[in-house]
Amino acid sequence: MNPRCASVLDTPPTAAWPPDVERLRDDFPALRQHVGGRPLAYLDNAATTHRPAAVLAALDRFYRRDNANIHRGVHRLSVRATEAYEGARATVARFLNAARPEEIVFVRGATEAINLVAYSFARPRLRAGDEILVSELEHHANIVPWQLVCEQTGARLRVVPITDAGELRLDSYERLLTERTRLVALTHASNALGTLNPVRQLVALARQHGVPVLLDGAQAVAHVPVDVRALDCDFYVFSGHKVFGPTGIGVLYGKAALLEEMPPWQGGGDMIRTVSFERTTYADPPQRFEAGTPHIAGAIGLAAALDYLRSLDAESLARHEHDLLAYGTARLAALPGVRLLGTAADKVPVISFTIDGVHPHDAGTVLDQLGVAVRAGHHCAQPLMQRLGVPATVRASLAFYNTRTELDALVEGVRRAIEVLR
Ligand code: PLP
Repeated sequence: MNPRCASVLDTPPTAAWPPDVERLRDDFPALRQHVGGRPLAYLDNAATTHRPAAVLAALDRFYRRDNANIHRGVHRLSVRATEAYEGARATVARFLNAARPEEIVFVRGATEAINLVAYSFARPRLRAGDEILVSELEHHANIVPWQLVCEQTGARLRVVPITDAGELRLDSYERLLTERTRLVALTHASNALGTLNPVRQLVALARQHGVPVLLDGAQAVAHVPVDVRALDCDFYVFSGHKVFGPTGIGVLYGKAALLEEMPPWQGGGDMIRTVSFERTTYADPPQRFEAGTPHIAGAIGLAAALDYLRSLDAESLARHEHDLLAYGTARLAALPGVRLLGTAADKVPVISFTIDGVHPHDAGTVLDQLGVAVRAGHHCAQPLMQRLGVPATVRASLAFYNTRTELDALVEGVRRAIEVLR
């Protein structure tokens, strides 16, 4: 098995290789703690990442200095808060290479972004017999919103199967793209297995059928560069907390022409142009989709996270993540009774596995006692677990700040779990 992690090995290392990971770890205060008397090995980054001090400082600065509501105020604090919030939108637009900041809608997270598209874009267009295409790899957030609008419209969910390695079956995908398909909604990277989908190719194939595409980037943005214009996707969603930013803030990117056609999905302050009891008119995107007071500090904190990421050498960090993925995969595979799930050629650094005779939750508890934080469960991907024939897995999900020493702690923990639980 040789997971390549985002094709990073196709190019020679840059001068910044190897990265000084110990120094980078100093940027993340939460990583420098002991759990159960041992140094924390935080391997649950697909659930949420930690925040660098730059993000904590941005939040602190906002609340201490600039805190005010945005868009409506004439006083100085409101002007500063508005500038910072709209500046954050411009930062996100640059991060995704969107054509303009107006294509960025701030939401609570990937889940809310997908629901927004389901209700405002898909539902008005769907008729009985229409189809929405998802895959067996999806997180519940990219299944249930579509099921809800299907129930309401008589449309049908179709599912692209995967191979035993956890890769999308491209032949089936092509076959399932028909004149009935109204939308393709696929994950960029799988949270449960790490599979990195060939999204450029998937979007191009949908384009040939004139079908719009939403990509769920929740697990991709922390690991691979994203260029929505090169991808040519119609919608791209992600959550701030999975890319070193605050919780409660996320992003919907939508092509301007599509957002302009879409009706509001929530009503309230800030999303209107004029209101009377007879008739209300709506603001242009993105304000049309941001009813009420948004998570101002969250947007500012997210921009600080993206600025922080941009200050690092992305290529050497991707190479480091690949090294960790290959090292951890090989060490776990060598343990008797450990079965790896998700052996795609291209992966983000996620290692999912089961242990013969040991329940994943019990293994997770033993690992926690040794200071190793992993996730055990169905990872909000129950249909995928059913496809793999397991109720749950243990998942170690990595970020650039992880180390081989932490993976050694994981391997020792799994050994221990086998000893005490079998
Ligand atoms: N999509 C994927 C692939 C995820 O991994 C997750 C969260 O784990 C989500 C969507 C939902 O993200 P959030 O809960 O931040 O909205």
